[in-house]
Amino acid sequence: MREGILFIVSGPSGGGKTSLVKEALKTFKNLSFSVSVTTRKPREGEVDGKDYAFVSEAEFREMIKKGKFAEYASVHGHLYGTPLEELENARKSGVDMILDIDIQGARQIKEKYGAGVFCFVLPSSFGILKERLIERGSEKSGDLEKRLSEAKREMEEINNYDYIIINDSFNEAFDCLSAVIKSARCEYSRAAERIGKDYFA
Ligand code: 5GP
Repeated sequence: MREGILFIVSGPSGGGKTSLVKEALKTFKNLSFSVSVTTRKPREGEVDGKDYAFVSEAEFREMIKKGKFAEYASVHGHLYGTPLEELENARKSGVDMILDIDIQGARQIKEKYGAGVFCFVLPSSFGILKERLIERGSEKSGDLEKRLSEAKREMEEINNYDYIIINDSFNEAFDCLSAVIKSARCEYSRAAERIGKDYFA
């Protein structure tokens, strides 16, 4: 049995990565979502333990001390972290995991594990990104400016990613993400692990 693959999806807010990740989870078997831990408050409709595990800052700090995170970072003024145990279990049991994490987290995963398929999702222009954030309406104007300037900073890291997924049309972007997932699963070194000695038995 091959090891589980880590698919890391990053990109500015408003880029559409969350919808792409949700669609991938519906479409692909043997693909699990890495539920992050966060100190931010739940938004309407978000389910504790499914979208995020919502904790207090004290609880988060305790988890850091106990080495519970594969990576963690402060994003938009809140703490977010990927639980280590789930990643390890998935890797060992051959389950692929998809992580919706920011650029700081992605960098840490790359440095620590040296493995993973890194995808960056964004629309084809900064103007589109801005329109989407405004349309979303959930952003207060100060927040909008903050998210836009953070988006600029995030884009500077784009060279650290293996794939850039342009998300102007959801279907085209999803085709692209699907192609990435399928090709990683077929990649020689991973596929070869599945061709055991008893192949001709
Ligand atoms: P939101 O609060 O809008 O759900 O997410 C804000 C940002 O935090 C997004 O860019 C998202 O990818 C990132 N994020 C979510 N979970 C994690 C995590 O576990 N680690 C890191 N480093 N970033 C995360």
